[in-house]
Parts: sequence; C-alpha cells; structure tokens
Amino acid sequence: SLRPYIVGNWKMNGTRAMLSEARAIDRAAQRYMKVEVAVAPPFTLIHAVHREAEQIAVGAQDCHADPDGAHTGDISATMAADAGAKFVILGHSERRQDHGESNELVRSKAEAALEAGLKVILCCGEPEEKRDEGKAEEFVLTQLKLSLPDAMEDVVERLTIAYEPIWAIGTGRTPTLDDIAAMHGAIRAFLVERFGEEDGGQIRILYGGSVKPENAREILGVANVGGALVGGASLTADSFMNIALAA
Ligand code: 13P
Repeated sequence: SLRPYIVGNWKMNGTRAMLSEARAIDRAAQRYMKVEVAVAPPFTLIHAVHREAEQIAVGAQDCHADPDGAHTGDISATMAADAGAKFVILGHSERRQDHGESNELVRSKAEAALEAGLKVILCCGEPEEKRDEGKAEEFVLTQLKLSLPDAMEDVVERLTIAYEPIWAIGTGRTPTLDDIAAMHGAIRAFLVERFGEEDGGQIRILYGGSVKPENAREILGVANVGGALVGGASLTADSFMNIALAA
C-alpha cells in the first residue's frame, strides 16, 4: 500500500523568505523516506520551491477548468504543471466559500488537472450545522459524488481525498477519533463502490483540520487515515516535519 502522505497547504502565506523553510522541509523529507511529503505554496512560489526540492513534490492550491483563454487573473492546470507542480488541491472549503465554487466546477477543474498530468487532492468536509444535525456523512458523500470525475486511469496514484471538517480548520478543534474513523470509513465505502474493491480500497484519504505535532500520531493512527493535509502547522519546517515524523 502507499506511504502515508503529509501535505502542507500554505494557503495565502509565503514570500521568497519562505524558501528556506521549503529547503529545510525537503532536507528532512530525505531522512523520512517512509513518508511522502509535499507542499502546496501559493502560485508565486511554485517554481522556486520546485527548483529547491529534491525529495518533496510541489503542488498548486487551485487551477482553472480551461487550459488557457480570456480569464484575467486565473491560472490553468497546464500552467501550474509547467511551473513544476505535480498535483493540485481542489475543492478546498476556502475556495468553495470565498469563490463560490460548486461541486460541478470542482469536478471540471479535476478533469482539467488530470488532463494536464497533475494529480488531484480533492477536498470535502461539512459545516458545523450539518454535523449538529447528524448529516455530516450525507453532506460529504454528496460532495464527493458530485465533484469527482467519473473514470480515471491509475486512480490510486492520481487521486487523493482530503476530509476537512470546516469547523476544524484553523480553530484548534478536531473531531473525536471515533468521528474521524466513522467519516473515513464512509468515504472508503464510497470509493470502493465507485472505483472497485482493489482501487477504491487503496486511494489515500487524508484528514485535515487543526493537525499539529501534538495530535498527529493519534489522528494518523485512525483506520483509513492515509495522511494529513496541514495548514497552519505546515508553515514552519519544524512543526510540519514533526507531523511527518508522527506518521
Ligand atoms: P489548519 O491545519 O490550519 O487547520 O488548516 C487545515 C487546512 O485547511 C488544510 O488544507
């Protein structure tokens, strides 16, 4: 089976001053070969991080659904790949909220990314009121159903799911380990149904939302948790690689 996957999402953080952190992450990753480490810096740093990195993969945090065209300010999957990106994070709740991204749009972006040769980390996660209503699984599985492309080759290598409950992002709050296990189990069952026992059973499902060095080991030990998507704690090599070390 695949190695644990620890991905840093830098969000809208980082100028060239952050390249020293990227170098330190890369150096540490060369010592933790049991873990697959990757970072998604802002677009402006993709090429520079790509040039620094020997071990880690670099990714984008979004892409447009078209390969090129009259879309002022947007970046296509082809462009991100050309800058050195190997994957793209799609459907993050901050994109869905700040930019009104629908499941259908996320799906077209995922198709464009795969077409451009990028791997996809597809995000899902419920708002707090859905969890309070007991509808978290239903909400997340609907998101996945509508935002995943139908068919793809090498799906195990090319697709990763990230479950990020919105209320856990940047808040210091996390679901109980039982709740993480239940959600990841439900996502696993969905993937098996969609992609078959063999592939659906192997696709990595990351947990994201307030992952820190202090809670990483217990979260990464939960059944069907194949890694972590880390925001705040990925901004320093020290905290990020302590999470990787816990995997
Ligand atoms: P935090 O780790 O800062 O809670 O962010 C999680 C996240 O949104 C990663 O994509």
